[in-house]
Amino acid sequence: MRYCSIRDRSVKVTFREAVSRGISSDMGLFMPERIPVMEPEFFRRLPGMTLPEIAFEVGLKYVGDEIPSGILMTICEEAFNFPVELRKISAGKQVLELFHGPTAAFKDFGARFMSRCIKYFSGIDDRRTVILVATSGDTGGAIASSFLGLEGIDVIILYPSGKVSKLQENQMTTLGQNITALEVEGTFDDCQTMTKSAFKKLETHGKIKLTSANSINIARLIPQSFYYFYAIGRAGSGQKVISVPGGNFGNLTGAIMAWKSGLHIEHFIASTNINKVVPEYLRTGVYSPHTSVQTIASAMDVGNPGNFERMLDIFDKDRDTMASKVSGFWFDDDQIRQHIREEYERSGYILDPHGAVASLGLESYFKDHPGSTGIFVATAHPAKFRETVEPVIGTTVALPNTLKGFLQGKKESIVMAPDYGCLEGFLKDKYSL
Ligand SMILES: *Cc1c(COP(=O)(O)O)cnc(C)c1O
Repeated sequence: MRYCSIRDRSVKVTFREAVSRGISSDMGLFMPERIPVMEPEFFRRLPGMTLPEIAFEVGLKYVGDEIPSGILMTICEEAFNFPVELRKISAGKQVLELFHGPTAAFKDFGARFMSRCIKYFSGIDDRRTVILVATSGDTGGAIASSFLGLEGIDVIILYPSGKVSKLQENQMTTLGQNITALEVEGTFDDCQTMTKSAFKKLETHGKIKLTSANSINIARLIPQSFYYFYAIGRAGSGQKVISVPGGNFGNLTGAIMAWKSGLHIEHFIASTNINKVVPEYLRTGVYSPHTSVQTIASAMDVGNPGNFERMLDIFDKDRDTMASKVSGFWFDDDQIRQHIREEYERSGYILDPHGAVASLGLESYFKDHPGSTGIFVATAHPAKFRETVEPVIGTTVALPNTLKGFLQGKKESIVMAPDYGCLEGFLKDKYSL
């Protein structure tokens, strides 16, 4: 399997190069040359397969012989060593809970798979691998946790000061060891712009090997398709609509890739908060990115979604083709709060703000398509956003054990202006470039 830049299909690299470079030299995102199709026989076995088994078989198609299959199996077993839950909420409505990993958010899937691929490849290279990552909240913690203590690898996280929850901040700033947190006095978009510039300017530097861990990295994207196979395999009969809460839209892109591989998914719903660039594109055909607006579903506060181009690429860059398979809905903070309250009163199920957006998207679709059945994706444990959730439902949300440890610990971060020059100065200093 080769990987192409979506800006220029003639740029072709190996999986290893795509993983370690993150983004192509023409600044295009990498995509597999073609999305692999799984055999009918695989789909017959699917309902009985575990997530690591699915991950291995699907992953093998993407990785080919670049990682020995025994090592790939170990990577899948280690990366996905926590449960995925599919629960029924009400007639026709199921939730896919992706928050049972170590940081209680779905980014654990991508981060844990990618970190182990990078570790495998870095064993073949003698330069120091530096993971540079911009986060609006959850990515940072997931990346830090997945790389913590890995030899030969440093992690540098940029996050917007004051715009992440206390718990999210602790997950990035209290681990120490090979993890450094840069607290940027700006927005997530500033963080993303700074890291993009660093990749452009320092990519060819000989001393260190800069690697992106954002959702733009192909090794984070690929595993985000695995759990859709698992979910559809276990969801029972009936046509399935899937609603995904989107920020950079890597999670939805993963779902669309699974469908392209032959998985039966009836329709997709791109659900988001008032950062509604993708729903607006689907409605009007005009893509107009903007500065991100802060909401209570903060991991989705993205004004220029990184994976939009990839999604469009899968639909042959044609809006009508995309709109025939994907519907978009967006919701403001009041609607999100109200839905968390209503769902709790109706079924006792506690939604986090991101899962609530996806649940709202599914219900909006059901209104126009009565009799449909579907799954919405819950991407974070409600306890991660307890400041928002608890006042709304009027009760406390118990913290999962995985998160309790992060409540103690001393914050250590380096405050930085939202300016690329500062980031470059920091890197040059740290690595004597
Ligand atoms: C990152 C994140 C999202 C958005 O996922 P994308 O792949 O960027 O669209 C949604 N919910 C939570 C909790 C997240 O951390």
